[in-house]
Amino acid sequence: MRESIQTLWPYLWRHRRGMALGLTALVAKDAVAVAIPLLLKSTVDQLTQGSAWALVIRWIALLMVAGLLKGAFQYAMRVVLIGISRDIEYDLRNDLFRHLVTLSPGFYAGQRTGDIMARSTNDLNAVRMMLGPGMMYLTETSLTFVLAVAVMLSFDPGLAALALLPAPFVSFAVIFFGRRIHERFEKIQAMFSGISSRVQENLSGVRMIRAYVQEEAELRRFRDLNEEYIAQNLRLVRIQGVFQPLLEALIGLTFLIVLWAGGLRVLSGDLTLGTFVMFNFYMGMLVWPMIALGWVVNLMQRGTASMHRINELLHEQPSIAAPPVPKALPARTGAIEFDDVSLHYSAGPALSGVSLRIEPGETIAIVGRTGSGKSTLAELIPRLRDPSSGVVRIGGIDVRDLDPADLRRRIGMVPQETFLFSTTIEENIAFGVEDAPPEKVRWAAEVAGLAHDIEGFPAGYRTMVGERGITLSGGQKQRLAIARALIRDPQVLILDDALSSVDTVTEERILTGLRQLLGGRTVILISHRVSTVREAGSIVVLDRGSVVERGTHQELVGAAGYYADLAQRQALEEELETI
Ligand code: ADP
Ligand code: MG
Repeated sequence: MRESIQTLWPYLWRHRRGMALGLTALVAKDAVAVAIPLLLKSTVDQLTQGSAWALVIRWIALLMVAGLLKGAFQYAMRVVLIGISRDIEYDLRNDLFRHLVTLSPGFYAGQRTGDIMARSTNDLNAVRMMLGPGMMYLTETSLTFVLAVAVMLSFDPGLAALALLPAPFVSFAVIFFGRRIHERFEKIQAMFSGISSRVQENLSGVRMIRAYVQEEAELRRFRDLNEEYIAQNLRLVRIQGVFQPLLEALIGLTFLIVLWAGGLRVLSGDLTLGTFVMFNFYMGMLVWPMIALGWVVNLMQRGTASMHRINELLHEQPSIAAPPVPKALPARTGAIEFDDVSLHYSAGPALSGVSLRIEPGETIAIVGRTGSGKSTLAELIPRLRDPSSGVVRIGGIDVRDLDPADLRRRIGMVPQETFLFSTTIEENIAFGVEDAPPEKVRWAAEVAGLAHDIEGFPAGYRTMVGERGITLSGGQKQRLAIARALIRDPQVLILDDALSSVDTVTEERILTGLRQLLGGRTVILISHRVSTVREAGSIVVLDRGSVVERGTHQELVGAAGYYADLAQRQALEEELETI
């Protein structure tokens, strides 16, 4: 609870005026509500004493005004307080999203997407329910309870005590059953998300299921899950079936006691009929707080548990953040330097003692077998990761002293795995560039060798890709990613195995285009294919996280090392293909 208040306090404070207004409406509503049975008592007493009609009508008019007032205050209370909980939910959701986009790839590698989604939807909703209906009904019903009981006690302590006799049992039943109903309900929710994930996996993997003839097996698994789901639902229905009648019986019993004891005393002239009617009205008013208590306690418990889960996300520190006083990057980005850089993943070292200098305007190629650390090395330049030891400098400045956003704006990175957003081709290419003119998009697509493909699509550049559009081939995706990097006009272009799914002829054409275009820019070309890197000014060979060779194609072929071996093997493969 304390943790929730700590996090939510700034949000609540921002709405202090509205909260004060809502609370005022709440108190006014409760005061009027509790006054209504009092008015009723006077009216009935006037009637039974045979007072003049004019007087009775005045009391009735007063009752009607009170009823209207109560309605108006209740409306104001709900609109204001529930509205504030929605506003806070909105602020909290924005803050959470803003925080999530600052977190580093390393954080996401260790999290399940579904879990983050659940926290930003279901848990946020639970927090809103606690803030809105939870807090509102808690205050409202406690106040109603205290006021009504106070009035009842002041009129007739004996009858009031009788009327309150079953209250502890009702509250106990509500809390006892409430917890069990809640637990069973949570199980059903969990089962339901299990079923949904199963369906989602089956739909996405439908080709795999066909290919491996798993339809029957999947059906069986699904039927089992579904049966379990029904069983859980029946457990819930069973407990609800006991709870509802029990609650009604307890409440009915209370009315019975008051009717009997109060009725006897009215007959003996001990109690006025007005007071008796008033008691019955208060009884009716107390039923709701007793029922609501269990529900509200539940809302508060769920809200605090959810707040804790959201706080776990909010307290996650971005491992890669801007320094307090970032240094300015010069207009020309300058040389890139790796100074004795090592990087360890939890599984083991990926880079050890890499020292490398890349001059501005140079085209350097990095080759090495899968897992040799090429992608890791590339990710260090835009500071998507930080090295475990050593320094990466750009223009002589440690990248950790720069504003990452400033740094990344200079770099066009085409990662090994491309991600396309569910939108048009045009918007996918212009991602991150505001108001890119269409000619620029076309130019980027042209250089990336994608323009011809796009013209063949049903809606050209407006064609949707992703789940609700067409599916691009691996090579098309890679070329789109290259166009996306080019449109930013980067000073440093990093292609991380970005042409691996493109055939060698197209690759050669794209590389020639890039070479003509990118004069003066630094290009880092990562590949496992010799044909890709052959023309590069300088080739670096990585093996098990270390630089093992560096030189031109001619030099390295002559050195008879790892590269020469690779070149020979791939030349052989090419020859075999042409046969
Ligand atoms: P390459 O791009 O040359 O194939 P990588 O840089 O992707 O090589 O990987 C280098 C080594 O680091 C591999 O052994 C790989 O399994 C490991 N590795 C890569 N990314 C991660 C990660 N996010 N977490 C843990 N280990 C990783
Ligand atoms: Mg890689």
